[in-house]
Amino acid sequence: MPVISVTGLDLSYGKRQVLQDISMQVHRGEFYLIIGPNGSGKTSLLKGLANLLPIAHGRIDILGRPLADYTRRQLARKLAVVPQQISLDFPFSVAETVLMGRAPHLGLMGIEGSADHALAQEAMHFTDVAHLADRPLDQLSGGERQRVIIARALCQQPEIILLDEPTASLDPAHQIQIMDLMERFRVEKGTTVIMVSHDLNLASLYGDRLLLLHNGRVEMVGSPDEVLTAERLGACYGCAMLVEKNSLGQMPRVTPIPQKYSQVV
Ligand code: ADP
Repeated sequence: MPVISVTGLDLSYGKRQVLQDISMQVHRGEFYLIIGPNGSGKTSLLKGLANLLPIAHGRIDILGRPLADYTRRQLARKLAVVPQQISLDFPFSVAETVLMGRAPHLGLMGIEGSADHALAQEAMHFTDVAHLADRPLDQLSGGERQRVIIARALCQQPEIILLDEPTASLDPAHQIQIMDLMERFRVEKGTTVIMVSHDLNLASLYGDRLLLLHNGRVEMVGSPDEVLTAERLGACYGCAMLVEKNSLGQMPRVTPIPQKYSQVV
């Protein structure tokens, strides 16, 4: 059984339809990347999967059960979301923020016990933020803050984790750190990772399968090798692309071609 199954999904903001006839199936333990040009609907699809947008048409099943049948709390025990940005209006400490991941598991009184604190500690160690425990969120670097938000999601003990461009605005070393973290989490805990990324090369390096969106529709789902072809990317992104084999592992490496080199290829 797929952990997520989407069939004929349409999503709209008011009258404005942004996703059309989306069908996809994600399997347990997959690293699943959603890619596509700006405005193609990646974030909207992620919001749909997290039940943050009403379904106009079609259906989404999470772990074999219709998304609409879950309460917020039930869904949060199964699925964690790492948003693109978080509010820093109330700069909680790192430890407080990570512990919030336990909220969907707490009893009626909402009081954390020693097991919850232990899980928060474990999540902070896993993401290498334990040394920042008492620091307020607004005094961290972008990479540190991103690891804290991921720690909160891990502390939630989800079966599925959704991330929206978690590496945007990070330097290459920190991008790889976040991607390696998710890969380790996937392998060690068996968690399914679904990530929106605009970075085709990171998608190629880590993705088991990629879903390429174009104008709110699924252009293709497949392995990096199948999806990342120069012709397909050129057509979707409207820019000539050079696709070579990466010597690390023979996966595609994508380079958008600057105009001054357009005669070379
Ligand atoms: P991507 O993540 O691929 O850049 P988005 O899902 O953010 O794409 O956006 C898809 C389309 O939906 C875009 O045309 C965008 O302008 C539109 N859109 C996004 N958010 C909203 C919103 N809150 N209200 C209306 N339209 C929106």
